[in-house]
Amino acid sequence: MTPREVLALCRQKEIQAVDLRFMDFPGMQKHFTIPVEALDEQSFEDGLTFDGSSIHGWQAINESDMLVVPQPETAMIDPFMASTLAMTCNIQDPITRSDYNRDPRNVARKAEVYMRSTGIADIAYFGLEPEFFIFDQVRFDQNEHEGFYHLDSVEGEWNRGGGELGTGRGQQVRRREGYFPMPPTDSLQELRTEIMLTARECGIDVIGQHHEVATAGQCEVDLKFAPLLASADALLGLKYLIKNVAAKHGKTATFMPKPIWNDNGSGLHMHFSLWKSGEPLFSGSGYGGMSELAMHAIGGILKHAPAILAFSCPTTNSYKRFVPGFDAPVNLTYSFRNRSAAIRIPVHASSSESRRIEFRCPDPACNPYLANAAVLMAALDGVQRKIDPGMPLDKDVYDLPTEELGEYPKVPTSLADAVEALRNDHDFLLRGDVFTEDVIDTWIWYKTEREIEAVRQRPHPWEFALYYDA
Ligand code: GLU
Ligand code: MG
Ligand code: MG
Repeated sequence: MTPREVLALCRQKEIQAVDLRFMDFPGMQKHFTIPVEALDEQSFEDGLTFDGSSIHGWQAINESDMLVVPQPETAMIDPFMASTLAMTCNIQDPITRSDYNRDPRNVARKAEVYMRSTGIADIAYFGLEPEFFIFDQVRFDQNEHEGFYHLDSVEGEWNRGGGELGTGRGQQVRRREGYFPMPPTDSLQELRTEIMLTARECGIDVIGQHHEVATAGQCEVDLKFAPLLASADALLGLKYLIKNVAAKHGKTATFMPKPIWNDNGSGLHMHFSLWKSGEPLFSGSGYGGMSELAMHAIGGILKHAPAILAFSCPTTNSYKRFVPGFDAPVNLTYSFRNRSAAIRIPVHASSSESRRIEFRCPDPACNPYLANAAVLMAALDGVQRKIDPGMPLDKDVYDLPTEELGEYPKVPTSLADAVEALRNDHDFLLRGDVFTEDVIDTWIWYKTEREIEAVRQRPHPWEFALYYDA
C-alpha cells in the first residue's frame, strides 16, 4: 500500500482515528492515536513527534523528542478499536532525520540490507510459531516486593491454569497430554479459530492453530513464512490480536515462556531459510536433504547460540523452559526430525523449496526484530567462515547418558549466562552496523539491571517452602 492508498482506504472505510505503533527496545508494543484529519501524505515523509525518553531503554530526557514515521505497508483496520486504522512506524531523530539505532525495526531492516550486501542471499525467510497460554484469570497479589501470582482455577495438586482442560467439565486431562484433544475437552477451539480468522481479515497470514501439549490452556497459532522484517511485523500484529481476542472472552493470554512448573513451556519455533535469485539455498543432497551452505548456517547458529539467546530468550523466565523432557532444547545440537535437538531439520515434502531449519530455542517473549536479526547474522557468519556444525545427534537427547551428552555444548541455563555470552561474543552482530555497540551495551545494561538483578534480589515463593522452617 502507498500513502495515497492508505488515505483512500481511510475514506472508504470511514476511518476516524489513526493508531501509530512501534516496538520499544525490550519488545513491548507502544502506541498513540491521532484523528484521521491529522494524517496526510506529508505525514508519511515528515513523521510525527513523541517523547522518546519515557520508552524503556531509549532516549535521555534532554534529547527526548523523537519522530514516528508511519509505514504504509503495515496499515490494518483494527478490529478492537472503533473506526481505527493502525500502522507500524519507524523511529527517527527529528534533527538529523537518521533512523534511530535503538529502534528494533531499524536493526531488522539493516540485517536485511547487510545480507544482500554480502552477496550470500537476497531473502531470509522466517516462519514463526508462537505458543502461549490462555487462562481464565491471573491474580497478582501485587506487592512490589513479592509479586506473587496465582493462575486461576482448578483441581489438581497445583494452583494452576484453567479455562479448559480439567476445569470441572468432567474432562480431566492427564499432565502434558494436551496435544490435539477434540472439543469439549479442548474448550479453546472456538477462541483459537476466532484468532486465526481475525488475523486473516487483518492481512496476517496464519496457516493453522492447535492446542499444545501442556495440560491446561496451551495454544499455538502459526504464521506463514515471510521475509525477516515482515515476519516480525506479523508476529507483533498476531500477539496483539491474541491478547485482545482472549480479553474479549474474559480470559487472559500470556507469552511468558514458562508460566507453569513441571509442564511444557511456550516456545517460538523459528523456521529459517536463505534464498538467492528465487533459488532455495538450503536445498541439497547432504544430510537431511540439506546443502553445504545450510550446514554452515547451522554451524554459525549453534556456535553463536549462547549469545543469540540473550535476544531470542530474553527473560529470566526463559531459562526455566530448558529442562529435559518438555520438548524444549537442553543441548546445542542439530538433527533431522528430532524435537529434542536445538535445531531440527523438518521432514519436508518432496519440494526443495520447503528445505529449512527449525531453531527451537527462541520463545515468544522475545523482540522478534532483534531475535530474527541475530539468527540471520549468526547464519551469515557461519556461511562466511564455513563453520562446521559437527555431527548431528540423531537420538533422544533427554535419554542420553550424561557421559555421551557431555560432548555437546549446553543451552545457557540463565539469562545472566546468555548476557555474559553476548558480552564475549558479538562481533558477528556488529557487521554492516546492524547491531551497534550502543545497542549491545544498552541491551546488556537493561537486562542486567532491570531484570536479572531485579529478580535475583527478590525472595522467591519456593524459597519459603524450602527455607521457612530452616
Ligand atoms: N512447547 C515446546 C517448547 O517449549 C515445543 C512443543 C512443540 O514441539 O511444538 O518449545
Ligand atoms: Mg508447538
Ligand atoms: Mg515447531
